[in-house]
Amino acid sequence: MCGIVGYVGKKEASPILVEGLSKLEYRGYDSAGIAVIDKDVIEISKCKGRLANLKDKLDTSPVKGKIGIGHTRWATHGEPSDINSHPHTSENGSISVVHNGIIENYLHLREWLSSKGYKFYSETDTEVIPNLICHFYNGDLLDAVMKAVSKMEGSYALGVVSCDEPDKIVAVRKDSPLVVGVGTDEFFIASDVPAILNRTRDVYYLNDKEFVVLNDAGVKIYSPEGDEIKKELVTVTWDADAAEKGGYEHFMIKEIHEQPKAIRDTMTSRIIPGQPITLDNIKMTKADIENIDRIYIVACGTAYHAGVVGKYVIEKLAKIPVEIDIASEFRYRDPIINEKTLMIALSQSGETADTLAALREAKTKGARVIAITNVVGSSIAREADDVIYTWAGLEIAVASTKAYTTQLILMYVVALYFAQHKNTLGVDEIEKIKNEMLSLPEKVSEVLKHKEVLQKFAANNYMHKDMFFLGRGLDYAVAMEGSLKTKEISYIHSEAYAGGELKHGTIALIEKGTAVIAIATQESLYGKMISNVKEVTTRGANVLGFALEGNTSIESTVDSAFYLPKTIDILSPVLSVIPLQLVAYYMAIQKGCDVDKPRNLAKSVTVE
Ligand code: GLU
Repeated sequence: MCGIVGYVGKKEASPILVEGLSKLEYRGYDSAGIAVIDKDVIEISKCKGRLANLKDKLDTSPVKGKIGIGHTRWATHGEPSDINSHPHTSENGSISVVHNGIIENYLHLREWLSSKGYKFYSETDTEVIPNLICHFYNGDLLDAVMKAVSKMEGSYALGVVSCDEPDKIVAVRKDSPLVVGVGTDEFFIASDVPAILNRTRDVYYLNDKEFVVLNDAGVKIYSPEGDEIKKELVTVTWDADAAEKGGYEHFMIKEIHEQPKAIRDTMTSRIIPGQPITLDNIKMTKADIENIDRIYIVACGTAYHAGVVGKYVIEKLAKIPVEIDIASEFRYRDPIINEKTLMIALSQSGETADTLAALREAKTKGARVIAITNVVGSSIAREADDVIYTWAGLEIAVASTKAYTTQLILMYVVALYFAQHKNTLGVDEIEKIKNEMLSLPEKVSEVLKHKEVLQKFAANNYMHKDMFFLGRGLDYAVAMEGSLKTKEISYIHSEAYAGGELKHGTIALIEKGTAVIAIATQESLYGKMISNVKEVTTRGANVLGFALEGNTSIESTVDSAFYLPKTIDILSPVLSVIPLQLVAYYMAIQKGCDVDKPRNLAKSVTVE
């Protein structure tokens, strides 16, 4: 994962690089470092830990120069340490590199370079890159980078500087994100747009194996074959304030509160009462939709949980069989794919390496792919046949919240879109669901007003080592997401169980005081779910129960109850996940965890 930045212009590079890295820390925070060229000397400052450590270091020993590269790391190869921090430099000191990704054949390259006399000092895969470039260097940095890249397998976004050509940065990407920013007399590279948004809104999105050379006169982009190419300059319309906390203590709680707006933005232009559902970037025809005989929803982490809901609603509303797959497993199980297959690839960042790899596999075998992502111009968006954007706005907290709820909204929109084309639902039924969906933002706002029960539960249970989440049907899908949030940010081990499944083994773990959250929003399963809750309270569990307003009978079974505004069964995940996000947040706060930057995690998982 990690974040990389690069700057070339007329100003001091170091503060600009550090500012850019501060917007990328969500991608990794094991270490940070910069390399800046002053005249023809590369000066490096790097250290283990958060960017704050690097800032302190730079305060006491500043590095000067108007061109440089920077990195904030999420370690894949080699522990977080000063020596493993990026930038990495060739043994002769002439070439420095920042890298996002994994060089899969690094051991082989390391051996080969060692046999030629190169020495290595870190445990990283990255260190082969500057040495490889150095090996091929013959007076032309771009040419040397091209040659080095041709020997590398795996994924990379690279920023490269050399003291032999001290006026330029060379960059390239493959399967890891990289954008190029064009300002006035200053130019940038970055893993993600927020890093440069304070300085420019004009960016080039690079495709795999496109190379770029930046100097203070401009940017030149080259095809994989080395021919100069012209690309479209895209103006980003995001609000730079989105990358600030806006008065909230953490990005996560800010983003939880942004959900009514995110949900509204994601659906309103697509589901207008009395009009057919429209999907902006979908080129599928009615015949294409009728041709589909199987859908694979492929995703990771939180997006996977949105996909579980998607399976349920697409099958129910559009009557198409749907399989939901963990992206990193999908390719390796030899799935049955042909031209009647549709893949829906879900990824907040649009850069999730596992999902991207699954997408490519599906396309190679003839499937059509719809991407659902939050990032315009991301790799998954560009490689899919069709794309539907979640208009969640920038999501910074590592634990995803508004990206999940907006993915849910698009699962409903897609299900209704297919149902509309396949006539599996009547117009009135579709209108009813649409109208109910349009009331969701207000209902989410209502849920957000009632936090006391959740805060109390968090205060009484944050010290537990384990927790359980129970639900049936769609409540089970949401339970999985609640459990993941809890693990991610409060480090409490938790498991989600289908209410009816617990008695087949796991109920052995329930004892006096075990913390359980039971979700019982599905009208059709309410009675059965209450019986399952009773099974755990009988064994001493301390249960917080969620039910829809009016179902107050839950109070006789649970220790505390939280009520959600009434809605139809299929839409309840959008409401019930909100208190789950809040409980996880409050438990993390009670424990003193770093909510926005949980240990070992990074937001955008761009390595396989
Ligand atoms: N593989 C490199 C390392 O471990 C880069 C990791 C990353 O992209 O975060 O240092």
